[in-house]
Amino acid sequence: MSTPMLTQVAALKREAGDAILFTRMGDFYELHGEDAVKAAPVMEIALTLRGRGTEFETPMCGVPHFALESYLPKLLAAGYSAAIANPTAKPEEVKGLLPRAITRIITPGTWLDDDGRWLAAAHRVGESWGIALLQLASGQLRVIPGEGLPLLASTLERLGPQELILAEGSPDPFELEAARTRLPVWRFEAARARTQILAFFGWTHLEGVGLDPYPAAIGALGALLDQVEATQKGRPAHIQGVNLELGAAGPLLDATSARHLEVFANTLDGSRAGSLLELMDQCRSRLGSRLLRAWLDQPLRDRAGLELRWRQVAWFTEDRHREPIQKVLASVPDLDRILGRVALGLATPPELAQLRDGLARAGKLPDLIQEGGWFQESQELDVWPGDTPTCGELVAELRRCLAEAPPLELEKGNTILDGVDPELDAVRRLARDAKQVMLELEEEERAASGINSLKIKYNRVFGYYFEITKANLASAPAHFIRKQTLANAERFTTEKLMAFEQRLLSAESDLLRLEEAQFKRLLARVLEDRGALTRLARAVAKVDVLCAFAERARLSGWTRPEVSEDRELILAGARHPMLEARLGRECIPNDLRLPAGSSMAVVTGPNMGGKSTFLRTAALLAVLAQVGSFVPAELMRFSLVDRIFTRIGASDFLAKGQSTFMVEMTETARILNQVTPASLVILDEIGRGTSTRDGLALAEAIALHLRDLKGGEPRTLFATHYFELTRLADDPRIQNLHVEVQEWEEHLLFLHRIAEGPADRSYGIQVARLAGLPRSVIAAAQRILAETPEKPLEEKRSRRQAPVQPALPLFEPEPDPLREELAALDLNRMTPLEVMAWVAARQKGS
Ligand code: ADP
Repeated sequence: MSTPMLTQVAALKREAGDAILFTRMGDFYELHGEDAVKAAPVMEIALTLRGRGTEFETPMCGVPHFALESYLPKLLAAGYSAAIANPTAKPEEVKGLLPRAITRIITPGTWLDDDGRWLAAAHRVGESWGIALLQLASGQLRVIPGEGLPLLASTLERLGPQELILAEGSPDPFELEAARTRLPVWRFEAARARTQILAFFGWTHLEGVGLDPYPAAIGALGALLDQVEATQKGRPAHIQGVNLELGAAGPLLDATSARHLEVFANTLDGSRAGSLLELMDQCRSRLGSRLLRAWLDQPLRDRAGLELRWRQVAWFTEDRHREPIQKVLASVPDLDRILGRVALGLATPPELAQLRDGLARAGKLPDLIQEGGWFQESQELDVWPGDTPTCGELVAELRRCLAEAPPLELEKGNTILDGVDPELDAVRRLARDAKQVMLELEEEERAASGINSLKIKYNRVFGYYFEITKANLASAPAHFIRKQTLANAERFTTEKLMAFEQRLLSAESDLLRLEEAQFKRLLARVLEDRGALTRLARAVAKVDVLCAFAERARLSGWTRPEVSEDRELILAGARHPMLEARLGRECIPNDLRLPAGSSMAVVTGPNMGGKSTFLRTAALLAVLAQVGSFVPAELMRFSLVDRIFTRIGASDFLAKGQSTFMVEMTETARILNQVTPASLVILDEIGRGTSTRDGLALAEAIALHLRDLKGGEPRTLFATHYFELTRLADDPRIQNLHVEVQEWEEHLLFLHRIAEGPADRSYGIQVARLAGLPRSVIAAAQRILAETPEKPLEEKRSRRQAPVQPALPLFEPEPDPLREELAALDLNRMTPLEVMAWVAARQKGS
């Protein structure tokens, strides 16, 4: 036994499966039963009971329909999905319970928010994995087949998808926070996935895409498209094709390095604040911000492409060139997102108006660029590709048809302008006339009855009526038909009023029907232009990012990098970009010279001296230069880098419960296996996680491996507080640098300045004092230090002048075995003769 409504909800819930069911009831989306219990605390709303005290009592909560979108993010962030059920008929069309159906399922990866989420699918066939990635907001679809798992995992980690689809029972080697969606294995099966892909895009064969050799990627893509279709209840038209990325070279920065360098997020709380992305994001439009992120994710490796970007940025550094354009950019809405919502049938009238106005504004950009004097250079600099569509016809059509500021909902009427549809105009005239007719009717009956206060009234249940108070009842004309009796009044209708009411009602529903049809036509018209729209949006985004780079360069006095053909990295007056943003002038500029033939530097000095910052500066400048930005340095000359590897502090892994040392060595192994002579390697405090002796030996062996790399040594920066490593510079290919420190009275002054040569002593104890260690502990440490003999400086000097050895000793000299044996003798159990014999044997042996 159940109420019809509960039966309906139960049926919808069966269809929704694990997704939380939101059922539209009047002005609310309601959640029932288990769903309500689960979701109410997550969305921070009150849980109540429906049918309290009856046999149908069930937990319930709800959100106003217009606020749905503001509640969903919390739910999605907690890993839930939401199934949205809406009525499929209007109340006036059916008696009793409205029919309802699930119109959309929103999963963590298919939610359309500003940041452009990614939905990912991964599949394994044999030993190889393939992944497919979709940004539903922009329709961007990427497939990365057949690469090694580490590279795929790294790409996934960098993009940070919100949802990952895997086959049921398949292993899950990905360390991602993404919600996991498991689909049956058969959906990944190659033949079936192929059919799905072909059907989705309306293609007849897959050869053109080049996917054929990659069954794992085909499986992943097929399953991903399945999920899109299931959640969107259709095939969104803005997903226009597949971008197959064979990317043999992989990204410039792997996920670990991007994290260490805080490219997309800070390492403290994982938010954007303080990241390189945030610093560079002077973009005025969402389109630009999104492209900037993509650029940072995939810096360029080709010289021509980079030189072009730098020249474009240089042009925009002129305020008069850039500022008018940025003003326009600021008013261009997120065209990608709107197009996505149009394709998914979610666009509202105001969004369509935004698209119209945004397109019109974007259309001004090419003219503005020309006015800026670009014209002569435009051919060459290609800042606004000549074949970029303007979408002028679409704008004109939207202007002709769509109200200037249409209402949020079609039901409110007046979304479509007069003069678009003759039928609509006729019905409108009728509806407008109806007002007049009603006034006339009122006047007529007032005269007939002689009741001066007689008026036509309206309510939702009874429709239109005349109301006459008890006192005037006697004057009611004979043709009045009784409709309802109240305590002190009677309500009547008349033949004429009934006819009028009928006409009005049908006019209203005609209006809605006709406006809806026109609106749908406009949406379809937008979709026809989707290819052009996307290209226009790309051009806008690119100009926005170039302007952002130029503005950053202007604001902070950055300069244009130079490419050199020698494998070198030369920096003068380089600043850490984010530190500079925080400290301003107090950020100390530093130089670095890694010319060809001397491309490894060992940086020594006390903790907190600025070693790590110096290393990161070099890496960040390489990233900035290779995305086409200017850099925070007086001069940067470098040859293009193919990969940047970093090994920096392991503290962020401690939470995950892995051994610091194991993490450190795993990352180092990855670097040593992938590094090439064109790479930039940043090693910060390697070997810290183990005993000093092991750590030193490993650090040295790693440095030597890099030095002796086949084909040439990569540019490497090695920071260490092990003074012993400065002896690496006995090799002319390796140089020593140190951070300068001044002692002042009993204190240390960190100058954060990098100078040539090794650090001359360890400042550990002074640093400890600065950190607030008790004075007694400091004093004791100083005593112990004084008692520990330091190796005489002479010895180091002489060693530095010694001829270069093919390989330096990896370990400190082993302790003398003879001494150890001697110490182990137990004299109490030996006769004097035995001792004599022992000594004699040793004498002979040596
Ligand atoms: P180390 O790696 O030698 O322990 P860090 O690079 O972590 O030292 O630097 C310690 C602190 O010193 C940083 O947090 C930063 O605030 C400051 N610092 C480092 N380099 C500079 C610089 N060039 N200019 C100004 N402050 C700096």
